[in-house]
Amino acid sequence: MTLHDPYDTSNIFARILRGELPCHKVYENDHALAFLDLFPQTPGHTLVIPKAEATNILDFPPDLFGPYMSAVQTVARAVHVGLGADGLSILQFNGTAGGQTVFHLHFHIIPRHAGVAMHGHGNAPMAVEADLKQQAALIVAAFQSG
Ligand code: 5GP
Repeated sequence: MTLHDPYDTSNIFARILRGELPCHKVYENDHALAFLDLFPQTPGHTLVIPKAEATNILDFPPDLFGPYMSAVQTVARAVHVGLGADGLSILQFNGTAGGQTVFHLHFHIIPRHAGVAMHGHGNAPMAVEADLKQQAALIVAAFQSG
């Protein structure tokens, strides 16, 4: 996919947004949905996607960045608290040449612990279902704790 290919409504994240595919949801509001990555670079790796259709950062409506980035920050806070992370790596890729593999705009929130390496992007094993369930519960609880 180049940076200028049109939005493909059959991409995996569009299907998750429509409820056609399952996900471990941790947060949702009018503008964004956040769920756990199936191939986490560290445990608790979370994706925040906008509800608006956008292939990458270039075609996202500028007036929606405020609410979308606010959701990214909200989820980052909950991932930090829920997973007890010492740090957060927040990543975002655009176009095949830029490392993007799912063509619906998203930010990766990757919890980090001091001295612990993360798997490379696109080079992580599939998560165990029970672990995802447990990590999602920790993040959701962090929202509820304020
Ligand atoms: P990108 O490479 O586009 O920046 O990130 C896409 C992310 O989606 C990757 O980290 C990949 O592990 C994740 N991913 C791919 N397929 C699925 C899926 O079916 N469900 C979930 N939750 N994550 C997925």
